[in-house]
Amino acid sequence: MPIVVRCSSCGYVLYSGKELKSIDDVARRWDYRCPCCLSKLEKVTDKFTIRPIHELKTASRA
Ligand SMILES: [Zn+2]
Repeated sequence: MPIVVRCSSCGYVLYSGKELKSIDDVARRWDYRCPCCLSKLEKVTDKFTIRPIHELKTASRA
């Protein structure tokens, strides 16, 4: 199932695709820092939003 991983602070899409990545893989790819809001990406899930990608289209903006 395609997933999307977003920064919980600004909503920037850090990863989207069919592979299920670990939080650490995604965070490492961005050098543990959100490229948009520069908040630190810690290896805890509450810093991220991980959703099936199809929910992205229906989810309303926070
Ligand atoms: Zn961010």
